[in-house]
Amino acid sequence: MAADLKIKLNDGREIPAIGLGTWQSQPGEVENAVAHAIKEAGYRHIDCAWVYGNEKEVGDGIKASGVPRDQLWITGKVWCTYHTRVEESLNETLEKLGTDYLDLFLIHWPVPLNPKGNHPAFPTLPDGKRDVDHSWKLSDTWKQMEALQKAGKVKSIGVSNFSEAKLAEILPSAEVIPAVNQLELHPYNPQHELVAFLKSKGIVAQAYSPLGSAGSPLLQDETVVRIAEKHGLQPAFVLLGYLLSKGIPVVPKSVTPARISANIEGAAAAFKKLEQADIAELDKLAAEGKQRRFITPPWPVDLGFKDWKNPV
Ligand code: NDP
Repeated sequence: MAADLKIKLNDGREIPAIGLGTWQSQPGEVENAVAHAIKEAGYRHIDCAWVYGNEKEVGDGIKASGVPRDQLWITGKVWCTYHTRVEESLNETLEKLGTDYLDLFLIHWPVPLNPKGNHPAFPTLPDGKRDVDHSWKLSDTWKQMEALQKAGKVKSIGVSNFSEAKLAEILPSAEVIPAVNQLELHPYNPQHELVAFLKSKGIVAQAYSPLGSAGSPLLQDETVVRIAEKHGLQPAFVLLGYLLSKGIPVVPKSVTPARISANIEGAAAAFKKLEQADIAELDKLAAEGKQRRFITPPWPVDLGFKDWKNPV
């Protein structure tokens, strides 16, 4: 069964390889999406974040599913304005989700924002740029993550949107190596070098926006469509199977019950059907001129990604 596909982390735990994304899933629709995913479609992994503004409703959906907490994998993320107060962020998340621990807690972005700025999530300076706390060290954020894991409030800890350069700011003083680095990964942004680096460090690369996010051109890409037709799959399934074949867990988002059900089964089917030649073709798309990121927030810092330079 698709829900049984799991990927082992460096702390010995196993993350269900296919989870449900919840970014841009609106209150009013996300409760039903989450309940459907768990109860009807067999998902056991829900990807959440404080900044999505829907943790309360995601929690309602989890509760409505009736599936016991210990059978679920719930991921949360500490937002940028909380780097100096990670436990406070976690406590807010736990309360809204209605649980007393997370399976995985991630640093959402390696960008500490001013906690006392002019907005709780996206503080800005008078020039309109985001109000970054340049004095804060990411290694001090990571220390707080380690303490929460020791206290048992989160089982696994990791990061998100960390380039090799940003990882170098936390790894030398880390007692715990991050279990996961959640990144934008799909055939237009495969980040082959970073994924290989993570593997060498025992960090699992996890894919966000695996379908290319809302309105994705990847679903119409001629290579993706041809491979899908060859195997009798939908393009979305090919994109998910492509990542799973590399040991990369995926968190496709949908609020459409039929797609939620189809994605988990289709991803597992594609994982079985895709051939090495298909993977090799998809691997080359970015290098053939299609390199593209879909998620590029205007951070006024250099994140250290080779393909993405922000104006600092
Ligand atoms: P996805 O790549 O998952 O794409 C979601 C879009 O695809 C939605 O518009 C959805 O529509 C549509 N869709 C879903 N299934 C299908 C299908 N079978 N056929 C056609 N269209 C489909 O985008 P996201 O950007 O949401 O990424 C997934 C998750 O990753 C997020 O929800 C979030 O949990 C996480 N994430 C993490 C980030 C981070 O910084 N760590 C950044 C971005 C995302 P509909 O809902 O209408 O069905």
